[in-house]
Amino acid sequence: MIPFTYERATDEAAAARAAAGNSNTKFIAGGTNLLDLMKLQIEKPQHLIDITHLPLNRIGPTEQGGLRIGAMVRNSDLAADTRIRRDYAVLSRALLAGASGQLRNMATTGGNLLQRTRCYYFYTPGLPCNKRDPGSGCSALLGFNRMHAIVGASDQCIAVHPSDMAVAMRVLDAQIETMNGEGKRRVIPIADFYRLPGNTPHLENNLQAGELITSVTLPPPVRGVHLYRKVRDRASYAFALVSVAAVIERSGDQINNARLAFGGLAPQPWRVPAAEQALHEAPGTAVSADRAADAVLAGATGHGHNNFKIDLTRRTLQAVLAASQRA
Ligand SMILES: Cc1cc2nc3c(=O)[nH]c(=O)nc-3n(C[C@H](O)[C@H](O)[C@H](O)COP(=O)(O)OP(=O)(O)OC[C@H]3O[C@@H](n4cnc5c(N)ncnc54)[C@H](O)[C@@H]3O)c2cc1C
Ligand code: SF4
Repeated sequence: MIPFTYERATDEAAAARAAAGNSNTKFIAGGTNLLDLMKLQIEKPQHLIDITHLPLNRIGPTEQGGLRIGAMVRNSDLAADTRIRRDYAVLSRALLAGASGQLRNMATTGGNLLQRTRCYYFYTPGLPCNKRDPGSGCSALLGFNRMHAIVGASDQCIAVHPSDMAVAMRVLDAQIETMNGEGKRRVIPIADFYRLPGNTPHLENNLQAGELITSVTLPPPVRGVHLYRKVRDRASYAFALVSVAAVIERSGDQINNARLAFGGLAPQPWRVPAAEQALHEAPGTAVSADRAADAVLAGATGHGHNNFKIDLTRRTLQAVLAASQRA
């Protein structure tokens, strides 16, 4: 590991100010991703700001009837919260589908949103990777790309975003609250939070340098059956090949309202309004599932080893719709 300096932040404004003052600074929360990356010298911060003692570990109501989740709320506490389980079950289910109990006890809401891709080549210093070393090339394009993206990628990077939690937050229209080094706060809808790789795959989100995530808000609960289905190589402790977060309200065969977001397909949680629209227009049949899948998969391209994801997406969506009918 490369030497670095360390401080423990005592308040949000001081943490954001300290980060803005040194361009090679990182916040450390649960450390479950950052420390691995530092050991591999993929992340090389000169200065670490420990935010684990900031008072950002609460979940409370918003004035709009939703919930505000502090950035330091641990994944296990969020999944177990009775309000989350009752009103936002898709989020609880997605969290419990991720990592392991020990990791969820450490991992935080802010850190989970900002975890880096699990592309094998990104984690292998010495091999070309535009995300790790801009301009060096993409080893995955012609390499082993079983876990990689089929939509939203570019010829510079085909990595997927690995978070389960973010997929559920996308379906719930979460908003991310931040503070910058001047103490200014802003709110970023999760739909605008992540960037597609284009020619700059090393830039993954729209945070400014040193901007601190303080909390995530959820709008008032959305009625319907909340489902999270994750298809992966092992039954636990594995990242999604394809996942679907869904909130579906139906009367018998008729789908009155459907929200769908997909993980494992793209560099960011993937939500396609036309897919949701297709489910309203052709109620409750295999035809509507097919039309919705067509919309999600518009422009989808496999890269060899991950071609199977195109069919798998279709089948996973069908399974989710069938489950919503049985629920
Ligand atoms: C073996 C293993 C299996 C896993 N499996 C899954 C899985 O199946 N599904 C899944 O979704 N995840 C999985 N994970 C990933 C895990 O969920 C993430 O590592 C974790 O959520 C990151 O949170 P953290 O608090 O530890 O972040 P850290 O490692 O502390 O930080 C991650 C990044 O976020 C930044 N950061 C943290 N908090 C803030 C903040 N408040 N404001 C601004 N920047 C911030 C840090 O600077 C750093 O860049 C797995 C991890 C491991 C090691
Ligand atoms: S897919 Fe992205 S992260 Fe993976 S090797 Fe290519 S550039 Fe790097």
